[in-house]
Amino acid sequence: MYQHVDTTGRVIDLPVSKVVCVGKNYQDHINEMEKHFKSAAADDPLLFMKPLNSLCSLALPVKIPTDKGECHNEIEVAVLLQHRLCNCDDAKEAGQAIWGLGLALDLTLRDVQLKLKQAGHPWERAKAFDGSCPVSAFVPKSQFPYLDDIAFSLNVNQVIRQQGNTNSMLIGIVELIMQMSQTFTLDAGDIILTGTPSGVGALNEGDVLQMKLASHLDVQTKVIS
Ligand code: ZN
Repeated sequence: MYQHVDTTGRVIDLPVSKVVCVGKNYQDHINEMEKHFKSAAADDPLLFMKPLNSLCSLALPVKIPTDKGECHNEIEVAVLLQHRLCNCDDAKEAGQAIWGLGLALDLTLRDVQLKLKQAGHPWERAKAFDGSCPVSAFVPKSQFPYLDDIAFSLNVNQVIRQQGNTNSMLIGIVELIMQMSQTFTLDAGDIILTGTPSGVGALNEGDVLQMKLASHLDVQTKVIS
């Protein structure tokens, strides 16, 4: 059963609930989706959710479905909330709602997603399946002097695949949380995924993943099926 943990492995005393995500929050990823998948940019932030059973720990091997086409990596900065936010338009209040930051994989069944998009259907089958949101331990917010300059990366089999920095988000972390809270009430224990930079691609059984969040997290795991 998934629980939020800090970097010492201690359980964080917050409930486990939903994950609220944003698509297309990095221009380089928007560009690659247009080029390879003819996926258009969105006017408003593209929001979607993953349910409780999508959550699992990145400390364990990442289990991917193998009978539904390609399952893509999307490394993202994850934000753990410690307070409820409803219709928040106060940046200070939104900032104070953040417990800390970690890393997540927004696992995406890309072939399934493309079919759903073409049919105009929702994305849950591609993005909200059980285990589709492996997350790391969380680092307290006090460890980050600036939320808008945090580097992160994903290596697959020791080759760099995704490299991002929160300074190139189209909507920054605090603004994103405010906008999300204006559509969905955010509860203590909710996790926000903040979008992926370019470099999405298929994961395969046996891949070794290494993910870094600035100097705070260095997580290694492998892909199983
Ligand atoms: Zn994503």
